[in-house]
Amino acid sequence: MIKMALQIYDTLSRKKKTFKPRGKIVKMFVCGPTVYDYTHIGHARSYINFDIVARYLKWKGYKLNYVQNITDIDDRIIKRANENKEIPAKLAKEFENTYYEDMRALNVLSVDKYVRASDNVKGIINQVQRLIKKGFAYQIDDGVYFDISKFKDYGKLSRQNLEQLKEHRVEPNPQKRNPGDFSLWKKHKAGEPSWPSPFGAGRPGWHIEDTTITEKLFGPQYDIHGGGIDLIFPHHECEIAQIEAVSGKKPLVNYWMHNEFLLVNGEKMSKSLGNFVTIRDALAKYSPQAMRLFFAATHYRQPINYSEENLRNTNVVYQKFVDFVLKLQNVKIKASGKVDTIISKAKKEFEAAMDDDFNIAGALAAIFDFMSEINKLIDSNKLSFAAAKKVYKQMLDFDKVLGLNLSGVKEEKLPAELMKLIKEREQARKSKYWKTSDRIRNELKAKGILLEDLQDGGTRWKKA
Ligand code: AMP
Repeated sequence: MIKMALQIYDTLSRKKKTFKPRGKIVKMFVCGPTVYDYTHIGHARSYINFDIVARYLKWKGYKLNYVQNITDIDDRIIKRANENKEIPAKLAKEFENTYYEDMRALNVLSVDKYVRASDNVKGIINQVQRLIKKGFAYQIDDGVYFDISKFKDYGKLSRQNLEQLKEHRVEPNPQKRNPGDFSLWKKHKAGEPSWPSPFGAGRPGWHIEDTTITEKLFGPQYDIHGGGIDLIFPHHECEIAQIEAVSGKKPLVNYWMHNEFLLVNGEKMSKSLGNFVTIRDALAKYSPQAMRLFFAATHYRQPINYSEENLRNTNVVYQKFVDFVLKLQNVKIKASGKVDTIISKAKKEFEAAMDDDFNIAGALAAIFDFMSEINKLIDSNKLSFAAAKKVYKQMLDFDKVLGLNLSGVKEEKLPAELMKLIKEREQARKSKYWKTSDRIRNELKAKGILLEDLQDGGTRWKKA
């Protein structure tokens, strides 16, 4: 059942719009990586954000088909492969695999289908042919280009007029009709991979890869298209031109979503600037949960400054979730306090925040208020075992969106002799043998185990 209305900020109209899917299944496409190196945590920001978007759409009850492309034909791949004296396709495959590993490690599991550009060259050629036939594309000595002056809506996404756009010289060939015309097919050059085509052997331009994949899987129109803000121009502007020209239908999508950057000292974290931290290096220091929370704490349309200190602090935030869940698992008393109203209030606040253009930070605030109210009940012995079960269930429900794997949080087992000591101390405490109790506590502390006495007479331990 879909109750409250989700609002999504759409880059094309520059406003929040009520989400209305085109059909029974929401179709979402997010630009995947160019696979020539390890992915960095700037990429992680984009993919974690859209993972949470996908998870939330499902949480709301929508059926979703989420597709990502893999750019495995690209100038950067060819350049890197030549530098390494490798075959471009082999290099791309290696980094495609490391990308999947990184995503799994971050619990980014919501993508239904990854599609390689190299598996769609036939379709790409077909789309270029249709564009030529309709008069939107032309062939010159080094390939096929899109004539931007033929598509009157060109510039609508990045809000630039044709005069400004005409001057963007993306490819330098002077034979082009307008300097801003972009490449659909690049004629073969020595040392580059190529495919046969009616316009001569060559390889696809970047933008046509995505519209071919989405046309094949979704048709000429679909619901959500996402990516980082750097893709608004030229990439997404060109996608609109290609597909709306070829199909005669508009708009390509109803919601254009763009995430802001992860910055390092005010500049975009990027491979070309060399200021990046790979996902694997970051995961050697911080948990995937801390990384997810680090990005979730800032709205996706706001920039984030990378800081080791903030990431470390986020680990502490994650620990609060863990402590809370463990505490719930340990509630054993039969109290009479009710939690239904507290739960439904938290759920409402969570949903209201997420409905406001995926305000995950607001949703987290709602969860923290919830945890703090429940903690008060636990500390005053007013939360019953049955109520704790309900709260736990609700936390797992929130976690369907957050992806922190809270269901896997279990009390760690200690070696039997330490567990025996904890039990002995519990006994000593009950019998008011304070000296013995303190002695055992200190003994455990020396072994790195800290004890916390609970109101109900039980004891919780944690590693120092
Ligand atoms: P690329 O492989 O460079 O095409 O990037 C893949 C996706 O990651 C695109 O949607 C980019 O906008 C996004 N991205 C790259 N760097 C950053 C960054 N520093 N912050 C946020 N998103 C980024």
